[in-house]
Amino acid sequence: MKIVLFGAPGSGKGSQAKLITKEFGLPQISTGDILRDHIQRQTNIGKIVEAIINRGELVPDEMIIDIICDRIKKEDCKKGYILDGFPRTLEQAKKLLEITNIDVVIYIDVSIIEVERRALSRRICPSCGKIFNISKKIIEDCDECGAKLIQRDDDKIDVVRHRIEKYFSQSEALIKFFKKKKLLKTVFSAESPEETYKSVRKILLKI
Ligand code: ADP
Ligand code: ZN
Repeated sequence: MKIVLFGAPGSGKGSQAKLITKEFGLPQISTGDILRDHIQRQTNIGKIVEAIINRGELVPDEMIIDIICDRIKKEDCKKGYILDGFPRTLEQAKKLLEITNIDVVIYIDVSIIEVERRALSRRICPSCGKIFNISKKIIEDCDECGAKLIQRDDDKIDVVRHRIEKYFSQSEALIKFFKKKKLLKTVFSAESPEETYKSVRKILLKI
């Protein structure tokens, strides 16, 4: 099963991907994570994308498409995968459907106000990647591995606003495109990832 998760930054794509991985055993391919890993290792790609990401801009289509092409050829993708954060532009979406067939695009619908609130209260574990929300409860250390949580540079307020604007400027065209291809299924982002996952799961079980 090949799944695309689509939604605004902070819509909870990453959390849904992790829940799908747990139940369906498909690998999560997060372009954001792949890019951050390149930055951390200071690879050629990492050096190029660092400034772009920190400004909240999108990485060039060709670069991200190459990354995805390489990634989905790997052994663990034989039975399918979950794309999280790709495609993000119409160009990327068209290219994706040229290189492979997708079973479903799950669109996680959430309001601008809510995504802004969530992105600003998001913290991540730099060691294991677990995502936390500190809006209701202050959490300082990772409950999985004990590392001190950090805020991503691109989760700071100005950058968040920019990323969200970027997203909403592209999203309409993408939604239209996937609707036309009869791939789009919409779920509404609920209070908790577990609640949202109930709807996601229902869709996946029918595929
Ligand atoms: P979020 O979903 O919260 O925006 P991600 O971790 O998915 O965060 O992405 C972080 C950044 O990585 C994006 O703001 C963008 O600069 C870059 N990026 C990730 N995926 C793509 C993509 N498909 N196309 C272009 N840039 C991307
Ligand atoms: Zn951790």
